[in-house]
Amino acid sequence: MTRCRSRRAGPALQGSSEVAQSSPFFGNSALPLLRTLTSLSFPTLYLIAGLFGVIFGSFLNVCIVRLPRRESIVRPASHCPSCLKPIRWYDNIPVLSYLILGGKCRFCRCKISLLYPLVEIITACIFALAVAESTSLGAFLKVAAFAMLMIVLIFTDFRDRLLPHSVTIFGIVLGLALSFAIPVTDPLLEWVFGRMGMTLPAPLSSFLGAVSGGVFGAGLLYGVAWLLRRAGNPSKEYLGFGDVMLMFLVGVFWGIPLTYLTILLGSLVGTLVAVVFILFNRKFRNYSWPYGSFLGAAAIYVSLGGQTLLLWYLSWRGFH
Ligand SMILES: [Zn+2]
Repeated sequence: MTRCRSRRAGPALQGSSEVAQSSPFFGNSALPLLRTLTSLSFPTLYLIAGLFGVIFGSFLNVCIVRLPRRESIVRPASHCPSCLKPIRWYDNIPVLSYLILGGKCRFCRCKISLLYPLVEIITACIFALAVAESTSLGAFLKVAAFAMLMIVLIFTDFRDRLLPHSVTIFGIVLGLALSFAIPVTDPLLEWVFGRMGMTLPAPLSSFLGAVSGGVFGAGLLYGVAWLLRRAGNPSKEYLGFGDVMLMFLVGVFWGIPLTYLTILLGSLVGTLVAVVFILFNRKFRNYSWPYGSFLGAAAIYVSLGGQTLLLWYLSWRGFH
């Protein structure tokens, strides 16, 4: 089976008409260039990406737990939060150790949060999907770095209702730096400069795409937060400054169109989930929803299948 798939990929990579392949989750996308760099078959690549995913996911767990408390992510070494005993290396193997220990500390038998294996598995799945969706090694690294930042923010918002500036500011700087290496294409910006008769050098155009994406994301979310404060319960904070920073980060990575799509999708899904929960149980009326988690999840989805989703949205709106 494996040999059959890899043999089929050979000629497909040479002819551009044959490159397009349907993905079950995100529509049509080009076959990843990663496969031209290696002669590995898809299942092997998925497996390697997944393995890297669980290892990085394990590090993200440390960030999720410690960064909201402003603790160092390097020291001290991992320890049980209940009995404070250091965790041995063989009890710290991603996912496996959780299963072997039955989700309990070896010493005090205190329950270990399900969050740890969950974050590791989610990171592994996203890494594997990123391999399938990326058209170059650079594109893969960018999606993987972005997804890791988002995973940390999704879970810190979910656990502590916090979106640490240490993560968002680091991400914004990283996104701006990456824009020089991996282009942030913004058709709107290119059109505006085209109308003005200006052609910018590619790195500058990409950097401006990143900056305008960031300003747009932060600005639009700030506007939505302002509207909600005016229209809703004034004593309740629906969206905080952390969410504004989160959308600045999304903007510098992906430019205006995909950032707009993220806000649209995140608010839609967030509102739907909240309405369904409130319909089932009225006590959720006063629940403070982690909208940053919804925006983060939407951003990961958009970063993996954003172009396809954008084209679909435009054709639905009659623009295409
Ligand atoms: Zn313990």
